[in-house]
Amino acid sequence: MRAIKGTRDVFGVEIRKWNIVENRILEFMRKYNYEEIRTPTFEQTQLYLRGIGDETDIVNKEMYTFIDKGGRSITLRPEGTAGVVRAYIENKMYADKTVKKLFYMGSMFRQERPQKGRYREFRQFGIENIGTEESLADAEVIAFAYNLYKALGLKSVKIEINSIGCQECRKKYLKALKNFLKPHYNELCENCQRRFETNTLRVLDCKNPKCKKVTEGAPSTIDYLCDGCKRHFKAVLHYLDIQDIPYVVNNRLVRGLDYYTRTVFEVTTDMLGSQNAIAAGGRYDYLIGMFHSEEIPAVGFAGGMDRLILLMDEEGLFDDMEGYKPDVFVVAVNDDVRDEVVKISGLLREQGFSVETDLAMKSLKSQLRRAGKLNVKNVLIVGPDEIAKRVVLYKNMEKHSQKEIDIEELKNFKRIVE
Ligand SMILES: [Zn+2]
Ligand SMILES: [Zn+2]
Repeated sequence: MRAIKGTRDVFGVEIRKWNIVENRILEFMRKYNYEEIRTPTFEQTQLYLRGIGDETDIVNKEMYTFIDKGGRSITLRPEGTAGVVRAYIENKMYADKTVKKLFYMGSMFRQERPQKGRYREFRQFGIENIGTEESLADAEVIAFAYNLYKALGLKSVKIEINSIGCQECRKKYLKALKNFLKPHYNELCENCQRRFETNTLRVLDCKNPKCKKVTEGAPSTIDYLCDGCKRHFKAVLHYLDIQDIPYVVNNRLVRGLDYYTRTVFEVTTDMLGSQNAIAAGGRYDYLIGMFHSEEIPAVGFAGGMDRLILLMDEEGLFDDMEGYKPDVFVVAVNDDVRDEVVKISGLLREQGFSVETDLAMKSLKSQLRRAGKLNVKNVLIVGPDEIAKRVVLYKNMEKHSQKEIDIEELKNFKRIVE
């Protein structure tokens, strides 16, 4: 049996990297007072058809959708926002009229062509800030993303930002965009010819070189913003300025769906010449209204973990994995002292030490070899003669020193290892 194409096992050195990054993201989330939410890995297919849009590649080609034994159409989540929004409404988190700041992290599933750093089961994290349309919220979400990647050690992190306006000003813009594209219709790729009618905005972020060329001189959304949207965008940039967050306004940055409003942004880094975004987000003031009786404004972002860890690894950001070896190896000189080794190990673990011992009843020599391999700093050697004297032999492998210590002293082992 083999793992399914596009999935993989993460273990050994690799999982340590994941643990490090996940823990740092969790700590970071607390700094901004976001609270974790865990939603189901699968939902009704309908949630994604409406919440992501049936014109998107995700919904058209990439979802893992199946009929369960009860005849229900189920989909493995391809992204996190739709589930969080469903949970927000179902659990009436709007009831107290405060801003809800939610964080999630977990596996997502998309049937894409597997390639380096891209899997069919991949991990994403993200935040959703639900309940206000104020520009301060947009700025906090962007600051969170920017500062998180900086804190993880990424270099030349940059924000690309744009405003795509509200439903009012977008109408005018789409008209202008269509007028601009019409004479070039035949130069567009097949996808964009279809998008021209159904999802015109998306033509702007097509990766096809022909389409890129056509849209070079396309009108900018920010030139068509209404007064409210203009003020909002200006304020978001102001709050980024006062926090020294570097950004560039990118007029081509769009989101294709009607429920996206105003701010859209991406986080990029030029590490290893990688031009791709490592995170993307924006405001979605009209999404909640699609499932709920009133519109509730929201803004958020999502970032992938798989490529992030790959990037950090290639930049040597995991060179220091010291925390991942045991603090102490307790060695049994022979099998008569195994009971003592078990008791001593328990005593040290109670004090918070990471302790390893031999479980396979191996020889003294082989235990010492393993302690050496693990590169453990502290080794305790428990022998019958010493036990009779109520002492053990303590070796500090870094200082190449050793001494006998009283078993009583093990109750405060910290004093000995310092
Ligand atoms: Zn507007
Ligand atoms: Zn195209």
